[in-house]
Amino acid sequence: MAFLMAKTQLLGMTRDELATFCVALGEKAFRGKQLFQWLYGRSAEHFEDMTNLSLALRTRLSDVAEVGELTLVQRQISRKQDAEKLLFRLPDGFQIESVMMHEATRRTLCVSSQVGCPIDCKFCATGKMGLLRNLSAGEIVNQLLTAQRVCRTNVTNVVLMGMGEPMNNYDEMIKACYLMTDEEGPNLGQRHIVISTSGLIPKIRQFTEEGHKFRLAISLNATTDEVRDKLMPLNRKYPIADLLAAARAYTAKARQRVTFEYVLLEDVNDSLQDADRLKKLVAKIPCKVNLIPYNAVDEHFRRPSVDRIQAFYQRMQDAIVPVTLRWSKGDDIDAACGQLWTKAEHASSGQMMPLAVS
Ligand code: SF4
Repeated sequence: MAFLMAKTQLLGMTRDELATFCVALGEKAFRGKQLFQWLYGRSAEHFEDMTNLSLALRTRLSDVAEVGELTLVQRQISRKQDAEKLLFRLPDGFQIESVMMHEATRRTLCVSSQVGCPIDCKFCATGKMGLLRNLSAGEIVNQLLTAQRVCRTNVTNVVLMGMGEPMNNYDEMIKACYLMTDEEGPNLGQRHIVISTSGLIPKIRQFTEEGHKFRLAISLNATTDEVRDKLMPLNRKYPIADLLAAARAYTAKARQRVTFEYVLLEDVNDSLQDADRLKKLVAKIPCKVNLIPYNAVDEHFRRPSVDRIQAFYQRMQDAIVPVTLRWSKGDDIDAACGQLWTKAEHASSGQMMPLAVS
């Protein structure tokens, strides 16, 4: 009885891993470097495109390996044309989302690190899915490679702020970040990648000790443990004081600022007393604060009125640290912070695009 062997997925492999793979096929190790350049630098989707490999090797690769599959299911463009939400299907049928944001000179891609998320933040659509599985490094990088082809643009910045808690998929996420910054690959600057965490302190410490240059953002969202316990259940394990201590240690070792994200929720964390407490909490940490008016996911939370948002922002103006008010892009296509949720049929007020990938 013949068994079909699963093909090896090449996207996600490092240069050394590809060299080892080529040697195992009876090829010279330098073929691994050539494969690396095709996969990550030239974003090749098919072995037949890899024209500096012999025909025999290309045929052999087709027999035993796959580049890595990410199928575009839906592309939505916001009314202002400043954000595009891309829905992808993975080989096992799960779906994930990435969001491309267009600014003057920047193209920022928000990528997912997990299918669903185990953290269960109460204001977040992805949290309602629970964790279905981790993404591999290849699946994380492939969001970047495919988004660049679909949107016909070069991404300048990546934020790991899509579906999932990146620090909960630490090894694959870090591996993906290094692949995205490789000079022979997408070649992003390390400081152009932001890893956003809900506050998994042991992983923040590990990240600090390992000395990576990628930037760190922490989703804070409350100024008291009482409120944060309710919004983000992981706060019961990793309370605010410990989280801020970990953030301070990171800034000291990395010699770069941390960003605190603060989603404004009406009558939950948007009072002027909250603003005063927030200023005090972050005063001794080299950081900046991003205030993000909530994007409606369900009826349990509401976005504060513009007056309340402005009042909070004004109250923060004498903070020692820089504070910005960030209106999310793409909220009309559910592409804004906390809105990612893989239901292709979910709200679709934006413009649908045909699924041309290349
Ligand atoms: S906000 Fe982030 S960490 Fe929290 S549930 Fe949503 S995806 Fe997970």
